[in-house]
Amino acid sequence: MRKQLKKKIEKKLKYYKVPLNTVDTDKLEVVSTAKKVAVIGGGIAGISAASNLAEKGFQVTLFEKEHFLGGKVGSWEFESNGEKLRAEHGFHAFFRQYYNLRDYLKKIDAFKYLIPIEDYIILLQNGDQMGFKNLDETPGLNVWDLRKEGVMNWKTFVSPKSLPFIQLLKFSEQKTFKKYDHLSFEKFAKKTGMPQKMRLVFNTFARAFFSEPDKMSMAELIKGFHFYFLSNDHGLLYDVLDDDFQYTFIDPAAKFMIDHGVQIKTSTPINELEKTDSGFTVNNEAFDYCVLCTDVKHIRPLIQNSKGLEDYSNFTKQIDQLQASDRYAVYRIWTNKFEQKDWPFFVFTDRKDCLDSVTFYHKMENESAEWSKQNKGGIFELHSYALPESLKEEEAIKKALLEEFYFYFPELKDLEIKHSYFQHRNDFPAFHTGLRKNRPEIQTEVPGLFLAGDWVKMDNPTMLMEAAYTSGSIAANKIMKEEGVQEHQLFCVPSKGILA
Ligand SMILES: Cc1cc2nc3c(=O)[nH]c(=O)nc-3n(C[C@H](O)[C@H](O)[C@H](O)COP(=O)(O)OP(=O)(O)OC[C@H]3O[C@@H](n4cnc5c(N)ncnc54)[C@H](O)[C@@H]3O)c2cc1C
Repeated sequence: MRKQLKKKIEKKLKYYKVPLNTVDTDKLEVVSTAKKVAVIGGGIAGISAASNLAEKGFQVTLFEKEHFLGGKVGSWEFESNGEKLRAEHGFHAFFRQYYNLRDYLKKIDAFKYLIPIEDYIILLQNGDQMGFKNLDETPGLNVWDLRKEGVMNWKTFVSPKSLPFIQLLKFSEQKTFKKYDHLSFEKFAKKTGMPQKMRLVFNTFARAFFSEPDKMSMAELIKGFHFYFLSNDHGLLYDVLDDDFQYTFIDPAAKFMIDHGVQIKTSTPINELEKTDSGFTVNNEAFDYCVLCTDVKHIRPLIQNSKGLEDYSNFTKQIDQLQASDRYAVYRIWTNKFEQKDWPFFVFTDRKDCLDSVTFYHKMENESAEWSKQNKGGIFELHSYALPESLKEEEAIKKALLEEFYFYFPELKDLEIKHSYFQHRNDFPAFHTGLRKNRPEIQTEVPGLFLAGDWVKMDNPTMLMEAAYTSGSIAANKIMKEEGVQEHQLFCVPSKGILA
């Protein structure tokens, strides 16, 4: 019975992977005339756009304001107490339905660095934990299996109040956003009398989108559940890169781009551009096309300072309305102690005040493991994805994060911090209520100007890193189409839920 049901679900969900485009093999394999493209922003979206275009013979210049590539998957060196160490922007999970990003990792020979996590765990305040590795991997049946973790029980499924939960299985871009984008997760949870443990799972999930439950759009959350949990059979388990991003992602990506002729200009912030009759002027150079791949925070000043966009007020208005999420913090500490239990690389916490997750770098990344071996201490990263209003100053944030860290891992209480790296930022896109309708799309009304990044509206349900990569590739495909060049093949999970 279960086997048959699994087959039916698999068929209904199109075997969990659908093509996003059709490649016309009659078209040119590479562009026939010299075409110059400026890609602004060297995060995953910019790397994707630049790599894809360069592969097809476009002359690409990639401008990045920082001295390193990667954006939120960037990595850089710093000195502390005479030691040279590396910091990254923060822990990242590479889910198995990140089809396009994973294809790219294969292409640049970086896929070999991915290693699986052992479990997806949430630590509860009473010392218990929830783990999700033993759930059925089939969408729908995995929800049914959540009973095992006490997330819900059979009553949840028959209570009339819980009927709206069915929406999780009914994701459909247009309908879901029309019905639920105005509603926050907090309100939805109240309305449906959501069981406490289920609320906790959702809360954790909402925070992974850098949003407090009272601001998080329920439609975005349904989309997230669809993309991560209910559209594919990969389970909630994912992979991580086994060493610093510089070695496992950025170096291979940069080599691939350079081999394909991309000019990479780091430490080159682009503060304005000019739309001209034939294309764009960026950094005093003429280009035929421009792909803007900055983060959500920096796109606004760039567009406000730019010239020649006066006739495109829909576009400039949309950019004006973009919002970044709440402030977040990433605090990495190099210590003289280890945790007692054998935890997976990364755990979520049922946050008391500000701590949302802990990463055990000494277990995960080779270079960190080496430091740990030599120094007989652990490397931990503490995240707060949405800092409370009350926490504003660096020292207060660090103190609050550490207090909560010791609450969950009391054996570490008297540890000595040998080195630390602290980031307090607000450059993540807001997935708050009501924002979707004004979000700009990849193709803008400005001829030759495209957008890419995890904040851009797409008609596929990818999110976060996969959204950044996919949007960069779609932007590149659109330019290829204009030039009569064969597009790159892209994939996605099905766009509709099991019951949609
Ligand atoms: C702490 C943290 C944890 C995360 N964990 C996960 C995870 O586990 N899984 C997951 O899928 N996603 C995760 N994400 C999200 C993921 O990092 C992003 O979705 C993705 O990296 C965004 O890529 P991007 O290219 O769109 O933007 P960014 O990485 O922000 O890149 C934008 C780039 O543009 C550059 N730039 C900005 N302005 C200018 C300018 N004027 N001129 C030139 N360059 C400019 C910036 O310096 C930056 O390099 C996490 C994010 C954070 C912050």
